Parts: sequence; C-alpha cells; structure tokens
Amino acid sequence: MAKYAAPGQPGSLVTYRDRYDHFIGGDYVRPAKGEYFANPTPVTGEVFTEVARGTAEDVERALDAAHGASAAWGRTPVAQRANVLNEIADRIEDNLELLAVAETWENGKPIRETLAADLPLAVDHFRYFAGVIRAQEGGISQISDDLVAYHFQEPLGVVAQIIPWNFPLLMATWKLAPALAAGNAVVLKPAEQTPASIHVLMELIADLLPPGVVNVVNGFGVEAGKPLASSSRVAKVAFTGETTTGRLIMQYASENIIPVTLELGGKSPNVFFSDVAAHQDAFYDKALEGFTMFALNQGEVCTCPSRALIQSGIYDRFLSDATERTKAIRQGHPLDTDTMIGAQASNDQLEKILAYIDIGKREGARLVTGGERADLGGELSGGYYVTPTIFEGDNKMRIFQEEIFGPVVSVTRFDSYDDAMKIANDTLYGLGAGVWSRDGGVAYRAGRDIQAGRVWVNNYHAYPAHAAFGGYKNSGIGRENHRMMLDHYQQTKNLLVSYGQDAQ
Ligand code: NAD
Repeated sequence: MAKYAAPGQPGSLVTYRDRYDHFIGGDYVRPAKGEYFANPTPVTGEVFTEVARGTAEDVERALDAAHGASAAWGRTPVAQRANVLNEIADRIEDNLELLAVAETWENGKPIRETLAADLPLAVDHFRYFAGVIRAQEGGISQISDDLVAYHFQEPLGVVAQIIPWNFPLLMATWKLAPALAAGNAVVLKPAEQTPASIHVLMELIADLLPPGVVNVVNGFGVEAGKPLASSSRVAKVAFTGETTTGRLIMQYASENIIPVTLELGGKSPNVFFSDVAAHQDAFYDKALEGFTMFALNQGEVCTCPSRALIQSGIYDRFLSDATERTKAIRQGHPLDTDTMIGAQASNDQLEKILAYIDIGKREGARLVTGGERADLGGELSGGYYVTPTIFEGDNKMRIFQEEIFGPVVSVTRFDSYDDAMKIANDTLYGLGAGVWSRDGGVAYRAGRDIQAGRVWVNNYHAYPAHAAFGGYKNSGIGRENHRMMLDHYQQTKNLLVSYGQDAQ
C-alpha cells in the first residue's frame, strides 16, 4: 500500500491556491461582485480553498473573451488544432499523479481510480479527438451536370458547457475535447462542489491555448449557470447533470433556438441470467464483480448499475456471493492506493443517500448489507463516507425508481426473459444497462431490447472514447464520446454552385 500526501501536508504533489478566481481570456479574473465560496474536501470535511462566486457579469466577461477568440480558433488549421489537443493530452499525462491527487482530494474518490481511469481516459479523449478531427471530411455531390453541392462542417462559434461534480476532470474533458477539436471557443462552468481541480488543470494547460478559447466561470447553478445557458451569445449548451436541471436548460435554450445536448440521470438495470452461475469459473467471478460496480466511484456515476435483476434459479446463491464480494470492498482514505471506495462528494450528497436508505427501510425493502454512514475514525471522521449498501425489494419502490447517486443497489428477482425486460424497462430513465449471460443469443437480444443508450454485455463501466455514450428517455439528448460527437459542435454549410452558363 502507498499513500499520497494530502494537499497541505509535507511532500504533497498539490498545492492549492488559497483562492481561485475565474479563468477568463487566459488570465485569472476576480469576480465582479467580489464574493467567494468555501470549497471543502469530502475526505475530511475541511475547507481547503475558496472559489470565485460567479454572476451574470462574470459570464458576460467570459463571453466577451470567447467571442474575441472564436473566429481565429475556428480558422486555425485542423492539424494545428489537433496538435494543441495532443499537447494538452501530453501535459495531463506528464502531471497525472498531481492531477489525480487534486481530483481525489476535491471529489473524495479513491486515488487508484483517478490514476487508473479518470485521468488516462482524459488523456485518451484529447488524443482521440485530435485524431478524428483530422480524419473528418466534407462532401461533394454532383446534383446535375453543372450544379455541385459542397458540404463543409463549420464550428458553431461560442458554446456553453455546464458540468457536474462526479468526474470533474473527465466531464470537463468530455466537453472540451470535441468542442475545441471542432473549432469552437468555450465558456465552461464547473460544479460548485468541484471547481478547484479544473483550475489546477487550467494552470497546467493555459499556455497551450490561445487566450479566450477556454474560459472557466465558477459558481452556483442559478447565479452563474443560468445566465450562461440562457445567453443569446452562445450557439449551443452542453449540459451534464440532473434531469430536473436538464429540463430548465432546454427551456433557457429554447428562447434562443439553439441546440442542447443533455447527459442526465439514470437508474440502470444490471441483469444476471441463470447461466452465469452454470460454472464456478472466471466468468462467474467476472459477473460478481459486475454486480459490485454499483459502488464504483461511491455510486456517483450516472450509469451506476443501481438496480440488479437476478434470475430466480440462481437468486439466493448469486446474491449471497455478491454480498460477500460487496462486503470485501475496501473503504478507506481516498489517497491510499489500496482504497476501493472513498467519500461521497459533498455533505448534501451524503445526506441525500442516507435519506434514501431510510426511505428504503420505511417502504419495506430488506437491508442485506451496509445502510449506514461509515465512521473511518481520526481525521476521516468529518468526511462523507457511506458503506456499500444492498437492498432487496420490488421495482415499484422509490429506491428502484429514483436516482440515489450513492453506493446503493436495489435487487429484485425475475423468472423469465420477458419479466426481465419488463422490469428493466420499467423506469423513466434509459442511460445505461448491463446484461450478463453465457448465451450470446440471449445477451444480444437483451442488449437490443433494453431501452438504454449504452448496454454493457458481460462487462460494465468501460468508457472508451470511441464508443457512443448517451441516454434514451429522460436520460438525455445527444451523444458524447465517439466521432459522432463532432456533429453536436458543428453546423453544416452547403454551397450550391452552378458552373454552367445557361439560365436555370
Ligand atoms: P445538477 O443538475 O444539480 O448540477 C449540474 C450542473 O448544473 C452544476 O454545474 C450546477 O451548478 C449547474 N446548474 C444547476 N442548476 C442550474 C440552472 N438552473 N441553470 C444552469 N446550470 C445549473 O447535477 P449534479 O447534482 O451536479 O450532478 C449529478 C447528476 O448528474 C446526476 O443526476 C447524474 O446522473 C448526472 N450525470 C449524468 C451524466 C451523464 O453523462 N448522463 C454524467 C455525470 C452525471
């Protein structure tokens, strides 16, 4: 086991500033109203920095800077834009441990995940979009003998991006990489719970970007997010967050008739067919591991497999083995490399999860394991820890229908394939799902029948840059990842050119 030194302690890789201003036009800019808010670490509950509290005036300044930069960035040759993205990727890679500590300290997630997943995925994302933008081609079609249609992909201009707190750096990357590749300038608003790690990143990459191409305005949803999303000076809003907030974002954007992409909530089913337990082998082990994925990132994942559906024939045995596996998840100091589950991102989130655990108990679900705040002692006593929790119940219950966004899984049984599909699809959401079966036909059919944008078959929680990700139903509009994401950040210009001499 190794343990990274906490920021503020001797030997730490990260020294936060005492306060973070907005990052506008390549510089740090004080908030117009002069106000700051406290940023605590979920690891101990202590405040480690304060952050500019943005308002409409700050958003306007950021939009000025973005508008000043967007035309030149949009005209920058594609190869040069791609080089910038590759340089950003290299810079992140060169500072991987530093960024991992910064994100873990701010978000509470275990360092083994920031090191092995969040940041390598961010690096790959920038490299992927550096590649695909160079491979993008327009089109030419001959409409008639002397009439030709040219199709060009043009940037939208200045885009607004609003992100949540569960993967601060990766969510910023998912937004920034395609937007920049496509030639847009950006005003990004981080979540108020996790702005500092994004500024640590900005400090590392600022010199790679022309001033004004990326601007970061901190602050709260209504004070800073709303003026940004409702501005007539943005050409698009990309949003990740709660479904209720997504509805508001659509309303704001409708005033300006601009496109939105929305990555929203989920209540993802993880379906285990009987044949997974046909042998006690590596596949069975993998399926059990797939069950425990509900606790990954403390359950603060939009695709958290928060409903497990287990076929009756193996129900008792599978649940018992899965419970043992869940109990073995090591919870501890997020900066220990052995820790598998860390702290919830905020006190509000901790309280929300505990309230749902209470709701589960009151509505008659059976608590199989967990179900309480974990006191890890010492300096961690003030942190926001919840033990991985398994409930058994019925899909009609609130803990099966509402997004808890914590390490809580609600388990139920099914008899037939049709039952499984009925339960899996009995939800407002349609973001992710898992299907586990040794029978390729069953797995394929279930993958197609479940109404969700991403169905993992015999795996879970993989996020390669080149696989499309996004929601059906109330889970959102549009896709992220994959080169199709460029379509969301570009508009099509058609030139219809007549080369003939004759009047039409
Ligand atoms: P949230 O909607 O409360 O906040 C998200 C962002 O929106 C924050 O930056 C917030 O300040 C801002 N915001 C809030 N109100 C706003 C308003 N009126 N106008 C403009 N901006 C506003 O969500 P959250 O609690 O930060 O994040 C958790 C949610 O995000 C979960 O529901 C989760 O499922 C979802 N999520 C989805 C994905 C996905 O890809 N589908 C990924 C991660 C998280």
